[in-house]
Amino acid sequence: MSTSENVTSDVCEDCGASVAGGRDGCLKLFEEVIAREFSDYRYGRVHRLTVDAYSLQHPDKYMRSGKSFAAHLTGMCAAVEHEDAPALNQTIQKWLSTNPQVEKPARLPERRGDLNITHIHGAEDADAHVKRVGEWARDVWGAWAEHHDLARRLIDEATS
Ligand SMILES: [Zn+2]
Repeated sequence: MSTSENVTSDVCEDCGASVAGGRDGCLKLFEEVIAREFSDYRYGRVHRLTVDAYSLQHPDKYMRSGKSFAAHLTGMCAAVEHEDAPALNQTIQKWLSTNPQVEKPARLPERRGDLNITHIHGAEDADAHVKRVGEWARDVWGAWAEHHDLARRLIDEATS
């Protein structure tokens, strides 16, 4: 908004990515990555995980409601800790459609991982893309360690 002498930050305040334009530039990279995943199935097979990882690094925008919080947190947990994440995500989706009461923690992690969307955007081919999304996801999941138990409890609730 401000066009005064404020220095435009080239770091995304949410995830720490060094990118021209800061948060807006970060979102632009994310949109380009998503477009690539939609246009090529070899990239698209990790689409869900890309969205979950980006959301966990930008929770003010993508995890505002209890429901969206639960969806992205459990989606990430399913991908990292479970063998059949797609089936589990379907079960969770059904559970979420019943609008369960999900209490969002008051405090979310401030440091959200060392890797970010620039790591994904820079992948040279589909194999590298898939590998990097996996690395990014594990890094982000690690940064959310204090909420792992909550994620597992939500999955238990969804599958019981
Ligand atoms: Zn960012």
